[in-house]
Amino acid sequence: MDIKNKRQGTKCVQGGYQPKSGEPRILPIIQSTTFKYGTSEEMGKLFDLEAEGYFYTRLQNPTNDMVAQKICELEGGEAAMLTSSGQAANFYAVMNIAEAGDHIICSSAVYGGTYNLYAHTIRKMGVECTFVDPDISKEELDKAFKENTKAVVGESIANPALVVLDIEKFAEAAHEHGVPLIIDNTFPTPINCRPFEWGADIVTHSTTKYMDGHAATVGGCIVDSGNFDWDAYKDKFPGLTTPDPTYHGLIYTERFGKGAYITKATAQLMRDLGSIQSPENAFLLNIGLETLHLRMKRHCENALAIAEFLSEHEKVAWVNYAGLKGNKYYELAKKYMPNGTCGVISFGLKGGRDASVKMMDNLELAAIVTHVADARTSVLHPASHTHRQMNDQELIEAGVQPDLIRLSVGIEDVEDIKTDLAKALELV
Ligand SMILES: *Cc1c(COP(=O)(O)O)cnc(C)c1O
Repeated sequence: MDIKNKRQGTKCVQGGYQPKSGEPRILPIIQSTTFKYGTSEEMGKLFDLEAEGYFYTRLQNPTNDMVAQKICELEGGEAAMLTSSGQAANFYAVMNIAEAGDHIICSSAVYGGTYNLYAHTIRKMGVECTFVDPDISKEELDKAFKENTKAVVGESIANPALVVLDIEKFAEAAHEHGVPLIIDNTFPTPINCRPFEWGADIVTHSTTKYMDGHAATVGGCIVDSGNFDWDAYKDKFPGLTTPDPTYHGLIYTERFGKGAYITKATAQLMRDLGSIQSPENAFLLNIGLETLHLRMKRHCENALAIAEFLSEHEKVAWVNYAGLKGNKYYELAKKYMPNGTCGVISFGLKGGRDASVKMMDNLELAAIVTHVADARTSVLHPASHTHRQMNDQELIEAGVQPDLIRLSVGIEDVEDIKTDLAKALELV
């Protein structure tokens, strides 16, 4: 079956693993660290990347690869790999093309973990990051580039600021400066947004969120569109375009073409840093993916109804949901994600930070958890939780007001979610 010609819902259910006659109907968990070969020479070829095959699960595992393949099909990409977490995906995506002495540009409206990773951890490894306002003009964005800039990064919908990124604008700037655009597409998922269609080159995911969808497994994914021409900027990306001494001088772009970026990330970064996803987690992720199209639709329907309910409530000061008419990003969301955005809303109360925290404590059905984007409705106060390491200035730059409540609307019956919120608001 040629899954590429099928629609998203079909890819969710039947993409990735395609059993041949007599094979298990559903994706098997290949619970094995290692793989057997008949001759020493056969195995040697694998170590030289001369033959394709599995030899050790730290680098690659068939269960993982089938799930990565499904996500790749959903994004319309060329090659993909799973990682142990979304953090590992965003780390590898950058470090696969940047090294000490290099520079990247990142939207300031990103997940707190991504902010820490790029602002502090990779800086210690010698890679500097300039954070830019996601609403920056093209002219201003152009000024952020340096000689040593290697990538531009942003989130299609920022967690938790819910800013919709103008992907085309960022892609245009990146390409004019000869670097790829990396988009973290965790919140809309490929059901609602396909960044490659708007010029993005690489997509990352925290599969921990909607893709798994049940808060069961932590995981990540990197997908390459195969569109970026590394050889056109040979000097900028020597890791991909010049010989790798750890594989007898092999050149990734020469040997693997459109698969160069993912092959390098697997053969070098996964080999050396080892942030592999366990095959058992990949199996669970795959079951989540089978209903992604159904769940995203329901998350969006429920979230819109709740956003409308909150925006009419007398105790609510403001509501931020790009799917809500009048929202600053409504038009941009209509362009990039016409079928809906995501299930996450943010809002604040007229009573400010203290009222917001108190209201959350009054909720029954919606639980206070660090997680977002799973089947169960949940709430979080980023200033006290995920972003607590930031000062007020950094919070505001990241689009996180101190009174902001992040509400991840689940797929329960929307009337029960509404009642829970109404009761909690009454007690404030
Ligand atoms: C959660 C999240 C991450 C980090 O993913 P983990 O799986 O928790 O490591 C990265 N980006 C976004 C947008 C996220 O929401």
